[in-house]
Amino acid sequence: CVEMQNIHKFYGNVHALKGVDLRVKRGEVCVAIGPSGSGKSTLLRCINQLESTSAGRVFLKGELQGFTEHNGRFHQLSLSQISAQRRLTGMVFQRFQLFPHMTALDNVMEGPLHVKGWPKERARAKANELMKRVGLDGFGNRYPGQLSGGQQQRVAIARALAMEPEVMLFDEPTSALDPELVGEVLDVIKDLAQSGITMVIVTHEIGFAREVGNHLVFMDQGQVIEEGRPRTMLASPKNPRTAAFLSKVL
Ligand code: ATP
Ligand code: MG
Repeated sequence: CVEMQNIHKFYGNVHALKGVDLRVKRGEVCVAIGPSGSGKSTLLRCINQLESTSAGRVFLKGELQGFTEHNGRFHQLSLSQISAQRRLTGMVFQRFQLFPHMTALDNVMEGPLHVKGWPKERARAKANELMKRVGLDGFGNRYPGQLSGGQQQRVAIARALAMEPEVMLFDEPTSALDPELVGEVLDVIKDLAQSGITMVIVTHEIGFAREVGNHLVFMDQGQVIEEGRPRTMLASPKNPRTAAFLSKVL
């Protein structure tokens, strides 16, 4: 479902990704861990073209992202083609990015209404269904400022789901939350995982990675150092760098 082939990313002369290969199968929950600055956010942002890659290829559902190939030559897609491809993914960030002047329900309806062009009633029905799914039935009329951090983050998840993405990307979705609110957000993500949505999740929640992930990736200094089944890898990491990192966070 997601395939990265030999991805490099430079920010100026910072070599943030150094030849990353990654395959996430349909329905798989891939969890990426690693120290600060190892390239985890960059990895996600290269999947959904929030960042352009410096070299390598990204495929979503088998479709090359950002370029078309014609007679062995690559041509960059237009911005509208890129935004169409970007709709294959839904992204949830560390800090909730809800529109503060819109109610929770309007935030969730926004994409279906204005991007997909759905009629209002259909968008509202979808938004209500998703609010229920994230455990916020009855909260639709609240403004983000009237919701807790955990509730806002769940609205952000509903908003991403409203666009019916093929892949959900989460960048440390719980690290800005008070500890007592982390569980409710992880529960929603776990629920989505069980419903079979393909996901790539960057998180420091190792327990969550073990319980919910089916594919664990350890990154360090712009490279995938080790990957495998979460239980196996967490119990007996093969690479000393993985072991050193885990000994600090476990
Ligand atoms: P964290 O756990 O702190 O979120 P990360 O693993 O997500 O870290 P990235 O944010 O992907 O790491 O950063 C990878 C490297 O790229 C770091 O050296 C970082 O300083 C650099 N970097 C990231 N974004 C930019 C940018 N917009 N401009 C310049 N350098 C950047
Ligand atoms: Mg990051």
